[in-house]
This record gives sequence, structure tokens and C-alpha cells, in this order.
Amino acid sequence: MQMKKLIDNHERHINYLRISITDRCNLRCIYCMPIEGIAHLKHEDILSYEEIVRIAKIAVKEGITKIRITGGEPLVRKGVVDLVGWLSQLEGVEDLSMTTNGILLSEFAQPLYEAGLKRINVSMDSLKPDLFREITRGGELSRVWRGIEKAYELGMNPIKINVVALRGFNEHEDLDFARLTLERNCQVRFIEFMPVGLKNGWKEERYLSCSSIRGIIEEGYNLNSIASEKINSGPADLYRLDGAKGSIGFINAISGHFCSTCNRLRLTADGKLRPCLFSDKEFDMRMALRFGDSDEELKTLLHKALSNKPKGHTITEPTFRKCVREMIKIGG
Ligand code: SAM
Repeated sequence: MQMKKLIDNHERHINYLRISITDRCNLRCIYCMPIEGIAHLKHEDILSYEEIVRIAKIAVKEGITKIRITGGEPLVRKGVVDLVGWLSQLEGVEDLSMTTNGILLSEFAQPLYEAGLKRINVSMDSLKPDLFREITRGGELSRVWRGIEKAYELGMNPIKINVVALRGFNEHEDLDFARLTLERNCQVRFIEFMPVGLKNGWKEERYLSCSSIRGIIEEGYNLNSIASEKINSGPADLYRLDGAKGSIGFINAISGHFCSTCNRLRLTADGKLRPCLFSDKEFDMRMALRFGDSDEELKTLLHKALSNKPKGHTITEPTFRKCVREMIKIGG
């Protein structure tokens, strides 16, 4: 198949679609889900897997080559293994991945792997069971570890561990997370806490920049840049400790302003195409689909979303306003 390239109005090559398949989650992370929970979407408001695959097919024909399945927690939606199978078989998908909190991974890893999921990102914001429970409001760390071990056993590669940096919570673990990479072939990725949604508890005092984390790690270790090994690591700046098996990534979502290399679109569980994580501008694929639009019309809507991708976020500007949708309803 002759591959097309999706180029937006700011000369960025857009090849990555993040698909959220649910707004439900079996955890309640303090930075993602408001304490009172959220009003969940009704079943009929969520895209069916057939609808998701149809959109994905069109997107892939237009030039998307990377797909990530996310949520909410993707593993709580029934039939997710089938979806992985369908997406992995789409001609033109070069990279299929998933972000999960890992709670159900030990039971799903094998069927997911067999269905075509060869790599995975697992969120794990603390290595201490009590703090993990506090951050996730009830999560059991040992279950996540079991899932990660299973992913290793199967040979999923790379295994990436997402750590949202939360000042006052997990910054004392930066060195422990870094040390994980000495013996394990994983990529630990420190992600700056982002102000997404009106109720995710984002406060300047909770924010810790990646450069501060780098400073903490460099007190104990040499961080060697491995920028040349950057494959499928998105916006992460990559490093390796001397002699380490794994690597460390820094995702400077706030301080780094990496919008000039942003390559992604997001599809929410209720079928909205979202050109920028931080902006509430959305394009309603679900309505178009359910009104009976043709593939050609859906393609036009995809291009409309693309051409509305802003040049960059404005988080550091005084005029910045948080988006209304919570992360749990967007899909990180
Ligand atoms: N439930 C899955 C999980 O926990 O990985 C997938 C969805 S979650 C929204 C996707 C990723 O977004 C996770 O790695 C999570 O830590 C990250 N995330 C959520 N809210 C965030 C925020 N405000 N700032 C930075 N990262 C955030």
C-alpha cells in the first residue's frame, strides 16, 4: 500500500493516534481522577469496537502508523483483546502499544501478546506499596509488579514504566526508579505533572520539573544521553546510567515545550478527535459515523482536526486556561 503522510499546518508529520476505549478505571489516581469520581459515559455514547476500527482504518490509510490504546483503564473494557487483534492486523500499522495501570496485566498479558501487542507502557508512580495505594487511592502495587513480570516473561519489548513526578509524593523515589534500570531492561519515564482538566489537583507546588529530577539522579549517577537510540520513545529525552540494562526517559511536557515535534491526534472514548491534549477543541467522529457519513466524509473530518492542531500549548502563558475534560476522559 502506498503510504500517505499527514502533515499539519505547522509542518509537523502526524503519524500517531491515541485511542481511548473507556472512561472507566479501576484506580483513582490523585492527579487524573477527581476525588468525587466522574460521571461516566453511557454505554451507547462510547464508540463500539467496530466504530473504532473503522476510524483507525481511515486514519491509517491517511498516514497514521502508530496506535496506542489507552483509557481510562483499557483492560477494564470487555473484548479489548479482540480489538488489539483487529488493530494489529491493519495494514500500515507499524507500531501498536497500550498504556495500562497494570492491575489486570498479569491475566491479560498473554492473550494481548498473542493478539499482536508486543510492547506496553505501565504506569507506576511509586515503588512503595503504601504510597502507591495513596496515589492511586487503593491500588495494590504487587499486582502491577506481577503484570510487569508477566510482560517480561512473554518478551514484550520495550517495557516502559510511566512515573508522574509529583512533588510532595514521589520525588524521594527518583533515585530508586533510576536504579531499576540498572538490572532491568526497561525504560523508566518521568513525566511532568500536567494541568489537564479542571479537577485534577494540579498546583504549582505539586509540579516537579524533569530538570530537577535529573539533578537528583545526577547526584548519584552519570546520566549518559542516548538520543541516538530514540525509537518509539516519543517526546522523551533518553539517558542511560553507566552500565545499565535499561534507560531513563524524561518527558518535559511543561518545561520542554516539545509541541514543535508533536506527532499525535487523540480519539476519546466517546468518539471526539482531539488535536491537542490541552485544548478542548474537538471534532465529533461519533456523530459523523452515526449519521451515516461515508469514509470519504470521515476522512475530511480527520483532516479538519489535523488542520486545527495548534502550534503549541500555552501553559506557561498568563492567558492559559485548563481544558475542561479530565485526563481520564481524554486518554493520556
Ligand atoms: N489507565 C491507564 C494508566 O494508568 O496508564 C491509561 C490511562 S492514563 C490517563 C495514561 C497516562 O497518563 C498514565 O501514565 C498516567 O500516569 C498519565 N497521566 C494522567 N494524568 C496525568 C497528568 N495530569 N499529568 C501527567 N500525566 C498524567
